[in-house]
Amino acid sequence: LDAARESGRRAYELDRAHVFHSWSAQAQLKPMTILGAAGSYVWDGDGNRLLDFSSQMVNTNIGHQHPKVVAAIAEQANKLCTVAPAHVNDARSEAARLITERTPGDLDKIFFTNGGADAVEHAVRMARLHTGRRKVLTRFRSYHGGTDTAINMTGDPRRWPNDYGAAGVVHFFGPFLYRTEFHSTDQQQESERALAHLESVVAMEGPQTIAAIVLEPVPGTAGIMVPPPGYLEGVRALCDRHGIVMIADEVMAGFGRTGKWFSINHSGVTPDLITFAKGVNSGYVPLGGVAINGEIAATFADRPYPGGLTYSGHPLATAAAVATINAMTDEGIVDNAARIGAEVLGPGLEKLAEFHPSVGEVRGVGVFWAVELVKNPHTREPLAPYGGSSAAMSEVLGACKKGGLLPFANFNRIHMVPPCNVSDSEVAAGLEILDSALAVADTFVD
Ligand code: PLP
Repeated sequence: LDAARESGRRAYELDRAHVFHSWSAQAQLKPMTILGAAGSYVWDGDGNRLLDFSSQMVNTNIGHQHPKVVAAIAEQANKLCTVAPAHVNDARSEAARLITERTPGDLDKIFFTNGGADAVEHAVRMARLHTGRRKVLTRFRSYHGGTDTAINMTGDPRRWPNDYGAAGVVHFFGPFLYRTEFHSTDQQQESERALAHLESVVAMEGPQTIAAIVLEPVPGTAGIMVPPPGYLEGVRALCDRHGIVMIADEVMAGFGRTGKWFSINHSGVTPDLITFAKGVNSGYVPLGGVAINGEIAATFADRPYPGGLTYSGHPLATAAAVATINAMTDEGIVDNAARIGAEVLGPGLEKLAEFHPSVGEVRGVGVFWAVELVKNPHTREPLAPYGGSSAAMSEVLGACKKGGLLPFANFNRIHMVPPCNVSDSEVAAGLEILDSALAVADTFVD
């Protein structure tokens, strides 16, 4: 352990000297070192063990170092590390088969990318070429990636410094009852009013100018808002009425996170395109992609698709996907996520909400839960402002970490997003640590 700590310290020094980090003011950073990880746990630079209920970037859906996936990557590395995307490769072919077996409807073709943002870029490119239209509608309170089109589609403050207003993106409000834009009093009303709002936006923008409506069926980083009954069905009907391509961004919610293979499977809706990444191979090797329906695939049957990547369908990444999907299937990992959400994590969080005035709302499904922290449960004033942080949130997160829990955090929210194969006792341990941290949050309540 001492040797590991020493190499961790050296890595930290080199990081601060030479590594330029994402989304950050470089001089203000104190990044956490991770020396190792296994299953639902990580070890920090001092050798402390923490429950990883962030799943890193909400992507280690089968936990850390799953032996079957590690072995598959090693085996593929020994066999064939890389081939050009134009060639046939057995790992890529099998990954595409396994993914299309799990997508709804006739989304039977896969275009592989390196991650989520480029999956979104390509899905939008396909929709634009398919429809001959340019405009794209996306939600406020969303994240779609850090590249040019994807960041302009994003409905969170990370877009602001990147937005030159030229990307052809228009934002709308989705349903979010706790912070309703529509003065709704229940989920049914929120669903209907959010749909009426979207219909108005489409009418005002000109339906014949809109290529696609892109949404996360369950928005992730933006707050894990499970859609109310009828909402996704309504979006589908609106798209059908106007020949608009419906794109479901399943980058975070897909591959078991919500207790189903894709979060849109909780509804009966079949989108035209699905973007995926992260959980497809538990993030062990970078991989993303677009699942394409028959109609859009046919557009590019005799007309070349104008896009590609050196690493499209990279053998190491797709071999990891094959092993991940097979392990998830063989070990009942998606069902475990559903059961944990319904029987352990969900009820546990709801119980904490009863006793902690700082908890405005808990919401989620599967292993995808948000805890919305407030300074005042009546006014719902958040514990950190939209787009910002606060001393209170830092203290709460510090208490989690000190207790041995690493959650995912965004503004005033703590997300409890463990791997899909988390055990009951690990969830119980995580809830106990969160309980103590929420006592710290309670001290900030007016
Ligand atoms: N779409 C969604 C819903 C995401 O959550 C993310 C990443 O968090 C992305 C797209 C971008 O994915 P990547 O960071 O792999 O480019």
